[in-house]
Amino acid sequence: MRAARWDGSRLRVADAPVPEPGPGEVLIEVRAVGVNQLERQVMAGAPLGPGVLLPRTIGLDPAGVVVACGPGVPDRVGARVAVKPNVPCGGCGACTAGREADCPAQTVVGIHRDGGAAEYVVVPSRVAFDVGRLPFAQAAAAVHSVPIALHMIRRSGRGVPRKVLVTGATGALGCAAVQVAAALGAEVTAGALEGEPIGDLPGLGASEVVTYPREGAGAALEKALDGSSPALVLDATGSGELISAALRCVAWAGAVVVAAALPDSAVELDTRAFYTRRITLYGCAAADYADVRDGLDLVARGLVRPPVAAELPLEEVGAAFEMAGRRDHLGKVMLVTKEEPTCP
Ligand SMILES: [Zn+2]
Repeated sequence: MRAARWDGSRLRVADAPVPEPGPGEVLIEVRAVGVNQLERQVMAGAPLGPGVLLPRTIGLDPAGVVVACGPGVPDRVGARVAVKPNVPCGGCGACTAGREADCPAQTVVGIHRDGGAAEYVVVPSRVAFDVGRLPFAQAAAAVHSVPIALHMIRRSGRGVPRKVLVTGATGALGCAAVQVAAALGAEVTAGALEGEPIGDLPGLGASEVVTYPREGAGAALEKALDGSSPALVLDATGSGELISAALRCVAWAGAVVVAAALPDSAVELDTRAFYTRRITLYGCAAADYADVRDGLDLVARGLVRPPVAAELPLEEVGAAFEMAGRRDHLGKVMLVTKEEPTCP
């Protein structure tokens, strides 16, 4: 089969053997997979941590059709599925309590095991979620970001407040957060870097779009909010400046949920204001199984529709990463391995 392999210095599409599903695993014929920020960071030299072997087939969030099942898996052949990128261990306290997002031993498809930027991928059956009739590119574009966006809101433990601010709204996660919060009834202010294309963020649910420059982003955000205090801030930037500003702007007893990191991510915290105003700050890097099921349900019902900026063939993986890196579009860049037949 053809597979996009990263060897530590080069990304290229090469021949590789079709993997075989082991116990508890399924073999998926991949139809679409996203180009993700995490892979771009890894290729830019971000540390991989222990146990990561190269070369590795990339591709965090493939969608496709189950074509074989390993021992112990009920027959799922023919199921249309999308893969949750974070694989929880299944045995720790968090996993057994249904809080898979907090599993300390989770691994990531495409990082710790071969991913889905290939014609076939093997994953544990438990992270291959049924997507019904959703088009594969849409399912793959949704399966990573939408559940995490939903988890960010749920993690805050505040239900869905009326006013929500999303910073980094032009990225895949930020855009999903805008849509999920709006679909759940919030009035959403979308924050974006000046000059980044906001596309149809208003059509996707943003009541208002505010922008900030790269330098002095925090002060500019505060000014743009003009005294308006969101009860919940969902940050998809990891920018220390923006998170510091969010902690200053958030409403009394509000929450800031951070689901990204930048090298320059030190946050300034006025502890007096933090405790007297009962602010809560959360970190969020994955989703629970329940978030995946419910997130995909929002997509299936048409309440959330993650934009797809482009669909490129697997062989053009280099061009796809280049395009994703330019950030001159709203929506996710997808790799497709096989055209989906259109229904008659
Ligand atoms: Zn676990």
